[in-house]
Amino acid sequence: MRVLRPQTIAETLHLLDEAGDDSKLIAGGTALMLMIRNGLLFPEQLIALDRVSGLDYINVEGNVIRLGALTSLRALERSARLQKVVPTLTGALGLVANHRVRQRATIGGNLSEADYASDPPAVLTTLGCQVRIVSTNSERVLPLSDFLVSYYETALEHNELVNEVLVPVPSPTARTTYIKYVSRSAEDRPCVGVAAYLDRDEGGRCTDLRVAVAGATATPFALADVTDGCRGSQADGTTWREVAAAYSESIEPIDDARGSATYRKHVVGSLVRRALDAVSTPGENGAIRL
Ligand SMILES: Cc1cc2nc3c(=O)[nH]c(=O)nc-3n(C[C@H](O)[C@H](O)[C@H](O)COP(=O)(O)OP(=O)(O)OC[C@H]3O[C@@H](n4cnc5c(N)ncnc54)[C@H](O)[C@@H]3O)c2cc1C
Repeated sequence: MRVLRPQTIAETLHLLDEAGDDSKLIAGGTALMLMIRNGLLFPEQLIALDRVSGLDYINVEGNVIRLGALTSLRALERSARLQKVVPTLTGALGLVANHRVRQRATIGGNLSEADYASDPPAVLTTLGCQVRIVSTNSERVLPLSDFLVSYYETALEHNELVNEVLVPVPSPTARTTYIKYVSRSAEDRPCVGVAAYLDRDEGGRCTDLRVAVAGATATPFALADVTDGCRGSQADGTTWREVAAAYSESIEPIDDARGSATYRKHVVGSLVRRALDAVSTPGENGAIRL
């Protein structure tokens, strides 16, 4: 297997243009190398991103957080600035795998892997994240919900690179949470995770509600019609019961070693309710693992 080591974004894009389908980009390698070792992928050529400059940064500019695609999950998790602005995201990143994996794994690699059993995509979905994608002759910005297409499938063309992840700074009055439920002892990945974002007016009525479920469907599962329909409703147990029931009834979860579809439906209902209770009662924003 040939490994190419470009040093600039332009050089990387040029190599991608010339490469065929048997070439793969490699960032931290934590997902890709497992696939290669397990015989699931046989790329003839790897284009390594580790020496490419200008892709590893955390910038908070006005109302937008800009994360370079090559920034490690560990750097993001430990960023004091991010811990202050998006504590639920840094908390959720701190629940991914273990220190060794987070030290190598990158945010661009996590999203591009498009593994359904991932934590960051659900949290980033509720935060309204977008992904900037570049190629030699184009640049586009996609909402994360359009970037993630299906199981291990993204909207990326073979000659495109994710260069930046954009996260709007949450409203100062919003409450956020992520609850990660892991169903087996020797397991890192979520059986089900629920991310929630709630903003309210002074009367306690919902002005912005977002809920995304991780680990149960091909891409983070969200019912925008249900959560948008809560605008103007009291952020209380009556509303939350209906939202939790809608998520549990509508979701068609995967059946895998981490839990059956029936079991996951049940878990989704109770975790959505728990996440909504968390964001509507006083407390710190953040992430927990059950
Ligand atoms: C033991 C273990 C436990 C784990 N536990 C969890 C967990 O609990 N929760 C969780 O969410 N995840 C978990 N993961 C997954 C982990 O988060 C991902 O493996 C990691 O984030 C992938 O990032 P990477 O930089 O290593 O990507 P790589 O392995 O380098 O690449 C992954 C894919 O993305 C592509 N790619 C990489 N960068 C780019 C880019 N900039 N533009 C376009 N394409 C790109 C590659 O071509 C490849 O297809 C676990 C992984 C391991 C090995």
